[in-house]
Order: sequence, then structure tokens, then C-alpha cells
Amino acid sequence: MAKQGVQPDELTKPFWDAATNGKLVIQNCTACNRLQNPPLPRCGQCGSGDNLEWKEMSGRGTIYNYCVVYDCPIRSLQEGQPFNLAVIMLEEDPAIQMYSHLPGTPVDEVPIGGPVRVVFEPTANGQVVPEWEVAA
Ligand SMILES: [Zn+2]
Repeated sequence: MAKQGVQPDELTKPFWDAATNGKLVIQNCTACNRLQNPPLPRCGQCGSGDNLEWKEMSGRGTIYNYCVVYDCPIRSLQEGQPFNLAVIMLEEDPAIQMYSHLPGTPVDEVPIGGPVRVVFEPTANGQVVPEWEVAA
């Protein structure tokens, strides 16, 4: 599926650089021991920007829920319609959720509650992004 290009900015660059290297990292506040996604300049709990780090995740997660997209407004995604849009909960913290098209899984055959693992796919502008596949 052709995907939108991603434009990293100063805040998100470490996330995308890690993806390029085949790693999934999430912003973590070491003071609160709390993950947050999407990344912010400051911890959403304690408000400090001094204790934020990028923590590597296991790359394992669970499918929380999904829908099937039949009429996407984003032109570059229309050729892949219909496609899954699943919400993935990370193993480290189910409150950290990411979206996935679940490549390799037919629409409406998504195992809700099932395990997934992260994979990395290039987008239209060459930037690699994390995706998720149903784990056997
Ligand atoms: Zn904090």
C-alpha cells in the first residue's frame, strides 16, 4: 500500500530515526516512569521537560479494536481500499496506542485481542514507519 510520506520535526525526529534503524521507541518520563505518545515537549503528568528520554519497546502488542476504511479522504491511501485500521496497545503500557493497517491481514479478518509484532515499512518519501503484523 502506498503510504503518506512522513515529515519528521524536531520533536519526533528520534522516533523516526529509531524506525529507520528498525527500532520502536516511545517517549518516557524517567521522573514519573511514564510513557507518552505522541511525544510532547514536556511530560503530560509532571510537566517537566528535563526527564524525557526515548525508550526502546519490545515491539509486541495486542489488537484493541479495528475498523475497515472504505472511503478514505487521503488520495494516496485510496488505491489500497478497503483496508484495516486497527488500534494497537503496546505490551509495555496498554494506554499507549498506535494505529496500523495490519499488512497481510484481510479486511474483516482481524483477530481482536490477538498478538501483533512491529515491522517497519517505507512510505512514499522513503521514511520508514512502524507497522504491525498479526503474530503467529
Ligand atoms: Zn513526568
